[in-house]
Amino acid sequence: MRPIIPDYLAEVLGDVESDTSGELAEYIPELAAADPERLGAAFAMIGGEVYGAGDIDIEFTIQSISKPFAYALALADRGFDSVLAKVGVEPSGEAFNEISLESGTGRPLNPMINAGAITVHSLTGAENLNPGERVDRVLRGLSAFAGRRLRMDEAVCASEMENAHRNLAIAHMLRSHQVLTEDPRPIVDGYTRQCSVLVTTRDLAIMAATLANRGINPLSGEQVVPEAVVRQVLSVMFSCGMYDAAGDWATQVGIPAKSGVAGGLIGALPGQIGMATFSPRLDSHGNSVRGVSLFERFSSDMGLHVMEVPAAARAVVRSNHVVGNGPNAPRVLQLQGGIGFAGAERIIQEAEGIPPSDARVALDLTRVHSIDDVARRMLLEVARRLTLNGHEVYLVDPESIIPDPDPGDGGRVTVVADVDHAAAHTATAGGGHIR
Ligand code: GLU
Repeated sequence: MRPIIPDYLAEVLGDVESDTSGELAEYIPELAAADPERLGAAFAMIGGEVYGAGDIDIEFTIQSISKPFAYALALADRGFDSVLAKVGVEPSGEAFNEISLESGTGRPLNPMINAGAITVHSLTGAENLNPGERVDRVLRGLSAFAGRRLRMDEAVCASEMENAHRNLAIAHMLRSHQVLTEDPRPIVDGYTRQCSVLVTTRDLAIMAATLANRGINPLSGEQVVPEAVVRQVLSVMFSCGMYDAAGDWATQVGIPAKSGVAGGLIGALPGQIGMATFSPRLDSHGNSVRGVSLFERFSSDMGLHVMEVPAAARAVVRSNHVVGNGPNAPRVLQLQGGIGFAGAERIIQEAEGIPPSDARVALDLTRVHSIDDVARRMLLEVARRLTLNGHEVYLVDPESIIPDPDPGDGGRVTVVADVDHAAAHTATAGGGHIR
């Protein structure tokens, strides 16, 4: 069988190839010399599979796509409070290099505009690092996201530093507001180095997939940053990742994303996929023209908009009936699938209808493949209340989906391997395990 996903990617690349509108980033001379025809797209699944078409192994500089990852590192290294005290999370609706700070606090509005990203760079690593050690921390961190050792493009870095007047102006302004507390020049130099890290489209897809996969790199298995950090980063990418086009993007594409002026673009769909495209010509917002078209296609072709309402999950309660005869015959609520808040609510409704005459109630988790924290707590509360109402409660849980269940005050459950055990069990004073 020909591979389906690479064929799809090649077809979509073919559809956008003829669009030669947009300009290369002129303000960095090295980028102005890039080959404008390059075009590639890659998908990295959270299971570790990577699919691609076009120029996915050509290196280019990461530029602003480094910003969400550096933000993740700063949050992980310094904690939320220290970072949020210095950089806000409000969309600016302004260009990436706008010279503006939040009125009142003097904080940069968010970590995706340059003012925020320069500040974030200064917050990576431990507090006492010198500028060189900080760059090293960022390079190692980005490498962990990519799952391979990355390096910098010294020529692009030098070329940007020669023309970094605007970022230097921003940094001096940040220094005057005490947002930066060190000499601004080495910080801009470090930030520029961060932007000059070389990546391929394949690397970017894996980096995005690491965000989509709760911070765990799907190839190396490394937990690069904690889960709470990832949620913060994806939220900010969603609201601020595309500069002054963030609102259009959120409605039309609906994937947390980040673009860079070398032509890269990433998107991360939580729990599913990391995506990346590369095409150097930029629109007036500084986003890759063909990259934006590609993401519009991915979103609509595959229903990847985060606000897309999923088809109603299959009923969590598969059946509800008494199994067998006699006084010990248990009423079995056979549950299935993945259980979250809404599924647990269905179980509560079902449990509320159980007649008091059913002495034994078995909650059968055999067909449940996952249960989230709130649903687990709700299910144990169901067990507790059933006990208080005089029922003997059994949890049929051969795979230990709920290890060591504790229904709390006055509740009692007996864990059994199958429904027959619930029927055959001789009730004792305490709950327990029967295997
Ligand atoms: N190095 C660039 C700058 O700070 C990054 C901008 C971008 O990629 O949007 O100007």
